Amino acid sequence: MTGVSSARVLVYDLDVPALRRWMQDHGQPDYRARQVYTWLYRRFALSFEAMTDLPVSLRQALSQELLLPGCQIFAERHGQDTHKLLLEYEDGSQVECVSIATEGLPTFCLSTQVGCAMGCAFCASTLQGCERNLTTGEILAQATSLAARHGRPGNVVFMGMGEPLLNLGNVEAAVRRLTDPQAFGLSPRRISIPTVGIVPQIRRLGEMNLGVNLAISLNSTRDDQRRELMPGAARWNLRELLAAAADFSRLTGGQPVTFAYVLLRGVNDFPADAERLVNMLRPLRHHLNLIPFNPVEHALLQPPAEKHVQEFARRLRRGGLNVSIRRSKGTDIEAACGQLRRRAGKAKEPPRRAAVQVKSGCRARNRT
Ligand code: SF4
Repeated sequence: MTGVSSARVLVYDLDVPALRRWMQDHGQPDYRARQVYTWLYRRFALSFEAMTDLPVSLRQALSQELLLPGCQIFAERHGQDTHKLLLEYEDGSQVECVSIATEGLPTFCLSTQVGCAMGCAFCASTLQGCERNLTTGEILAQATSLAARHGRPGNVVFMGMGEPLLNLGNVEAAVRRLTDPQAFGLSPRRISIPTVGIVPQIRRLGEMNLGVNLAISLNSTRDDQRRELMPGAARWNLRELLAAAADFSRLTGGQPVTFAYVLLRGVNDFPADAERLVNMLRPLRHHLNLIPFNPVEHALLQPPAEKHVQEFARRLRRGGLNVSIRRSKGTDIEAACGQLRRRAGKAKEPPRRAAVQVKSGCRARNRT
């Protein structure tokens, strides 16, 4: 592992009360905390030197004791609608984040862990397992790095590397910063948290009632097949998963749950799959995103033919489901999760085979 380790605290790991305490400890008035906060989350300053309405001595003290931005761009790719950054933190860990141009403000796709232990067969992020959880500040550093280049986001999805519900405390704190009107000021409805289906954490997220969207990666209607496609979710069967989804809706006052279904040719795109999907989801408050597979090197899985995608969606709609077909943007820039880190970063080359290994869970890293 390379990179310079630092005893300095990442400034994004400090909330407003912690920033106030820092100012008090340094004989500064309270309002200085708010000034720094505004520079970080409204003006997206990536250095203390840029905070020109602070006294020079204060800027120097901040630089000596706190880290900003705490990461550097190791590699980047520009696509037609996408801009992907491979960021390297102080300890040499690398993660990906993407800005996706949409109508209006861009969508930011952020990572929550360094790598991922879930082992999904269609994902490059998991090929080296999970190194550790990201801190709240490290998650926010991705958002500010993108915002400094693209402006404020209109949507944030935690669909980069990692299983967000296995780092829920830090993700929750990041959501609170993203929705703070004095910071990014995003509506919680504009934030999506995906999961492979960590059942107890789905209920915990429901109890938090943050107002964010829950997006469950379903991908199969059969427990045996789901275990193969998503070994990290194998601990809970579909019955338990759907019960947790129903509880999430109940705990959040009727919020619908988004289900994602990556359509894989000859694997889960049969009429019987569509029929089972209808039976499973119709009783729930739901929205289903049908995602034609985006090929990943090392996976032997294939994308479906376009006519099969359309036919599958027609069957679901006829059965009464709310369905959207979603296309992955940025295949030209290795925008699928984990691809840039493998090709341009330090991630080691995995064995050339389709199956992926599930390694042990991530080390916790909680600085907040
Ligand atoms: S799809 Fe998400 S949960 Fe599955 S291995 Fe990739 S990053 Fe992890």
